[in-house]
Amino acid sequence: MNGPVVAPPIRLTAKAATLARRGHPWFYRDDLQEPSVPGGQIVRVHDPEGRDLGLAFTSAHSKLALRSCGPWPGHDVPDRETFFHARLRAAIERRAGMLGKEDGARIVHGESDGLPGLVVDRYGPVLVLQATSPVIENCLDAIVPFLAEQLAAESVLARNDVGARKLEGLSQEIRLLHGRRIENVTIVEHGVRHTVRPWTGHKTGFYLDQRPARGLVRDLAKGRRVLDLFAYQGGFSLAALAGGAASAIAVDQSAEALAAAEAGAAANVLSGLATRTDNVFDFLRSLREGQDRFDLIVLDPPAFAKSRRELTGALRGYRDLNRLALRLLAPHGMLLTCTCSHHVVLPEFEHLLRQAAAGLPFKVALRQRLGAGPDHPFWLSLPESEYLKVLLLQRLD
Ligand code: SAH
Repeated sequence: MNGPVVAPPIRLTAKAATLARRGHPWFYRDDLQEPSVPGGQIVRVHDPEGRDLGLAFTSAHSKLALRSCGPWPGHDVPDRETFFHARLRAAIERRAGMLGKEDGARIVHGESDGLPGLVVDRYGPVLVLQATSPVIENCLDAIVPFLAEQLAAESVLARNDVGARKLEGLSQEIRLLHGRRIENVTIVEHGVRHTVRPWTGHKTGFYLDQRPARGLVRDLAKGRRVLDLFAYQGGFSLAALAGGAASAIAVDQSAEALAAAEAGAAANVLSGLATRTDNVFDFLRSLREGQDRFDLIVLDPPAFAKSRRELTGALRGYRDLNRLALRLLAPHGMLLTCTCSHHVVLPEFEHLLRQAAAGLPFKVALRQRLGAGPDHPFWLSLPESEYLKVLLLQRLD
C-alpha cells in the first residue's frame, strides 16, 4: 500500500519544459509528449532530454493533466508518507506564530505549499480540509493522521462541497475524517472572538483570507460611522466596533448570517451594531437620495466573475457598486473595496475604480493595497493565485 509509486516519468514538450523551468505549475495533455497519463499518481516530470523537473500530481479526468509539486531530491518518486509528511511539516513550520490555541490560519494553500489540490484551514482544535486532486483523495490516510497529530486536532473534517471536484470526477461531500464532530468553534483574531461553523459556514467556515483587512479596519475605526456591505457574519463590523467605531451597519441578503453577526457582537460585549437584510445594490440605491453618510465603508462582495465569460458583467457590477459606495462617503471618508475574482486582475480592478470615481464632486486617493494574509502565500509564477485584491481608498476634501 505504502510502497514506492512506480509510475514512469512523464515527459513534457520542449515548450512546456521551458515554462516549467520558469515555475509554471500547470500542464495540459497538449504539453505532454504522450498525452495519456495514469490518474491520481505522484510522478517525476522530465524535459524532452530526460532531465528532471521535479514531482507532479496526475489527473486522468481534469483538463489539467499535471500539477507540479515542485522539486524533490534524487530521481525516484518518494513513498506517499515520506512525501506528504515532509510537505506538511514544511507548511506548518512556515506558519509558526499563527498556531496558538485559539488562532485561525490556513495551514496548507495548495500549489504555494507544494501540495496542489489541498487546502487545510485550522480553527483552534478543528482542521478543515478540501481535496481537489485525486492524489490527495487517494492519500488521505497519509495526510489526515499526520496533520491531526502535529496540530493536536480534536476534529478533522472534509468540506469537499466545492465545484472544482466535479472537474476531477470526485463526489461532493462533507464528512468527518478524524475525531469528533464539532459544530461551532471560537477563534480569536485581533482580540475579537469569531464563531466559526466548519460544517455549514461559507468556504471552510470563515473568511480567513481577510484577516489583514479586518486588522486594518480595526485600526482605522475609532469614532467612525461604519457601513459593512456583504457583511456575512459581520467579521468587519465586529473588528470595527472592537476598534472603537461609533456605529456599524451590517448589510447582507442572508438573515441567518446577520443573526450570527448580532450573536457575535453580544459575545464580544460590543454595542453599536445594526443589521439590514437586503440586497446591497437596492440598499445603496435607497440611500442615494438621503442624508446618511459614512466615514468608513467596507465593500466585500462575492466573486462576480466565476469564469472569464462572466467578466464583462462582473466588471460592470463592481463599477456600479463602487460608485454607489463612494457617493456615500462623508468628507475624508474611506472605502475598503475588495474583489476575490481570480479573473479580475489588479490593474483591471484599479481601472474600474478610476471609472467609478470619475464625475464625483471630490477626488479619490488610493491609500493602501492589501491582499490575503501570509498564511495564503501567492505563488509568483501563478498570477491567478493572487485572487484577493483589497484597496483602501479615501475621499479627498
Ligand atoms: N465580508 C465577509 C464575507 C462576505 S461573503 C467577511 O469578511 O466575513 C459574501 C456575502 O455576500 C455572503 O454573506 C452573501 O450572503 C452576501 N451576498 C451575496 N450577494 C448579495 C447581494 N446582492 N446583496 C446582499 N448580500 C449579498
